[in-house]
Amino acid sequence: MNTDWMDQAACAGVDVEVFYPPVGDQDSYRQIRAVYCGPCPVRRECLAFAVAAEPADLAKRHGMFGGLTPAQRHDPKTVAAVLAGDDPPATEAPAGEELERAA
Ligand code: SF4
Repeated sequence: MNTDWMDQAACAGVDVEVFYPPVGDQDSYRQIRAVYCGPCPVRRECLAFAVAAEPADLAKRHGMFGGLTPAQRHDPKTVAAVLAGDDPPATEAPAGEELERAA
């Protein structure tokens, strides 16, 4: 898989731990999205890469990529919207991410 796009990432050089806030920490998700992912020129490439690489099981997904939380990346419609150039809300908590993970 081509990863040349990573050179253009808005988060290049940023501590990767920044993108792994505590599960369900909506304030952190919003901040990451506003500062890094929202204006990132390779957001779509990042999202496609993350979705292709991460496990299908939501409970095993972590971090913020492509401006989407793990639960958002678990929703095909939300992923498709970003890949098509739309901009879903910065945070979601669809059905409660914490509840999904606790199940
Ligand atoms: S979308 Fe976010 S996580 Fe992905 S490369 Fe851009 S800034 Fe980094």
